Amino acid sequence: MKPNFSIEFFPPQTLEGVKKLKVERARLARLKPEFFSVTYGAGGSTRERTFSVAREIAAEGHLAVPHLSCVGASRADIRAMLAEFKAARIQRLVALRGDLSSGMADRGELRYANELVEFIRAETGDWFHIDVAAYPEWHPQAKSPSDDLQNFVRKVRAGANGAITQYFYNADAYFRFVEEVRKLGVEVPIVPGVMPINNFSRLARFSDACGAEIPRWLRKKIESCGDDSASIQAYGVEVVSDLCRRLLQNGAPGLHFYSMNLSALIARILEQIDLARGA
Ligand code: FAD
Repeated sequence: MKPNFSIEFFPPQTLEGVKKLKVERARLARLKPEFFSVTYGAGGSTRERTFSVAREIAAEGHLAVPHLSCVGASRADIRAMLAEFKAARIQRLVALRGDLSSGMADRGELRYANELVEFIRAETGDWFHIDVAAYPEWHPQAKSPSDDLQNFVRKVRAGANGAITQYFYNADAYFRFVEEVRKLGVEVPIVPGVMPINNFSRLARFSDACGAEIPRWLRKKIESCGDDSASIQAYGVEVVSDLCRRLLQNGAPGLHFYSMNLSALIARILEQIDLARGA
């Protein structure tokens, strides 16, 4: 049986964006992902939009998985969100701390993702399948790799069913992370997050902020393509497809694609690695 894959969207800000996403989503739906997830802006800034895209996905007959972050939120806010998800028959979530954005003074009542997972379990029992975030190259604010690892283990023990990683281009970081987590007795599936290479300057900026390394060989090669976006994308598809193959051949339980609301590169990668079903 082919391994599962899932695809992540962000909730568009405009009606035009919502329409475009619907078209991209229809293209990806033909490839039969396990689920579509929808990100959640820190402090509830996308609360309505995340929920509305998740509802649309569910209405189209797909498994919808909203993200939920606790930074800047009260317990009452989270409780209300959980009730809305339950009422909409949503049963799977990605639970995160999120990042305090500039201008947000209030950190909220739950400080870390482990406290959010604990709260969701206390409030809703086993209603939700909960995934949490994992960082094979370590979270940028972690005191040390071992501290980050312990914090990861803590949030899984709080009741997570699985994890999705930050994206990376260095497969060994993932294999070592999984190995270290297993040594600590944590057995939940850890699905690698995969970022296709599209707009490289944006990707480089974002990678600096979120602590994902772009290896020198990859950066140099892409920089040598200059403004030739077709060459950058073609090389990116080759590199990311190789990464996916290596991950799956060495035990990754599936793949989670960060789509940036675009379907073309994911479709090309899935075709390369023979994961597209019934396209
Ligand atoms: P945590 O697990 O709470 O960790 C945050 C930091 O605190 C780490 O350095 C950790 O080592 C440390 N830490 C954790 N627990 C403790 C503790 N108990 N005591 C002391 N230190 C601790 N962001 C969004 O805003 N919206 C999204 O939808 C979103 N989706 C994401 C999906 C995935 C798959 C991933 C990988 C990331 C996503 N993010 C999203 C980004 C994420 O919110 C940020 O990376 C954020 O900085 C950390 O969130 P977390 O849930 O991993 O935090």
